[in-house]
Amino acid sequence: MIVCKSPAEIERMRPAGRLVGEVLAALRAAVRPGVTTGELDEMAERRIRQAGAVPAFKGYHGFPATLCTSVNDEVIHGIPGDRILAEGDILSIDCGAVLDGYYGDSAITVPVGTIDTTAAELLRVTNEALFKGIAQARPGGRVSDIGHAVQQHVEAHGFSVVREFVGHGIGEQMHEEPQIPNYGDPGRGPRLTEGMVLAIEPMVNVGKPGVKVLKDGWTAVTRDGSLSAHFEHTVAVTAEGPRILTLAGDGAAAAGRG
Ligand code: MG
Ligand code: MG
Repeated sequence: MIVCKSPAEIERMRPAGRLVGEVLAALRAAVRPGVTTGELDEMAERRIRQAGAVPAFKGYHGFPATLCTSVNDEVIHGIPGDRILAEGDILSIDCGAVLDGYYGDSAITVPVGTIDTTAAELLRVTNEALFKGIAQARPGGRVSDIGHAVQQHVEAHGFSVVREFVGHGIGEQMHEEPQIPNYGDPGRGPRLTEGMVLAIEPMVNVGKPGVKVLKDGWTAVTRDGSLSAHFEHTVAVTAEGPRILTLAGDGAAAAGRG
């Protein structure tokens, strides 16, 4: 069952989303060679708890941390720890928080120092693909229009879309229906209606789309060892079009850029 939210409920989701956006902005500024993923995780947890919120991932199916930190060929669900970030790495940071009963979920991939041109293009194209997907989150469309737009953009640049992990509805639960694949034909799946809130989250590989999960039971990596990036926003489907709930600051910006 897809839980649609009233305009008032969407408004009540905004503080959780804004907090997640602000935590990610602070982390982006803190990422540099020599920093460990564990230090970033501590920073995020402190900031979330100071805001009166709770980290959404910590303890979720036993996940041990506030953030997922995924470096280079790691796709998602990397566990923060002693890993020291090095010049030229790319780091995907996924952050979720629950505040006043509502979840926010967002991810960015950031460069560590100076990165090579392929890595830079991967980050640019993946973020653009997210916004192509967000632009489809309008009443009257279908869920698969989102993934189709993502896949078209990614493959036009010679990269590939991960199939094994998908976006999701979000609200009073972190994972609600429907699932949002990042690939497929348009015009399929549930019709998009006002009040749906969706976490749209393309994961994009430089090489082939295949992934595998490491022995830690969490970290997903590319099978071919190629770089991977991940961007995510929590987005409300409204009569006025898509509204991104996980922007930092006043968040008045509409979707459609990128
Ligand atoms: Mg996420
Ligand atoms: Mg998510």
